[in-house]
Amino acid sequence: MIIQWKWLFEKVLTRFAGIMLFGFLFVKDLEDKELINHEKIHVRQFLEISLVAGLVFGTVAWFISLWFLLGIPVAFYIWYGIEFLIRLIKYRDREKSYKKISFEHEAYDKEDDFTYLQNRRFWRFWKYI
Ligand SMILES: [Zn+2]
Repeated sequence: MIIQWKWLFEKVLTRFAGIMLFGFLFVKDLEDKELINHEKIHVRQFLEISLVAGLVFGTVAWFISLWFLLGIPVAFYIWYGIEFLIRLIKYRDREKSYKKISFEHEAYDKEDDFTYLQNRRFWRFWKYI
């Protein structure tokens, strides 16, 4: 689902033009096809991470506590944040660290390839780590 929300990007997330939250896309401009492709790549990454996290957290939840199931939808964002911090320590540059996060690196690299998601292999972001 793609939602155009100009106010969000003009008043709150002023440095961004789009964001993927839990599989939903919020964009400043529905006509920006590269941005939408970029965010769709993040949706695929999110679903892949959630699938693997589901196996891990689901198993842990079965034996310990159902609370671990809450880790499934946030696993992508935890990975994203940890990778950003590691790269920030390495590069000491926020913009460079952001662009080098494997999820962003793949999305920026392939955002202009509109058939990319049709042929993309599972966990392809791993190539960008
Ligand atoms: Zn991105």
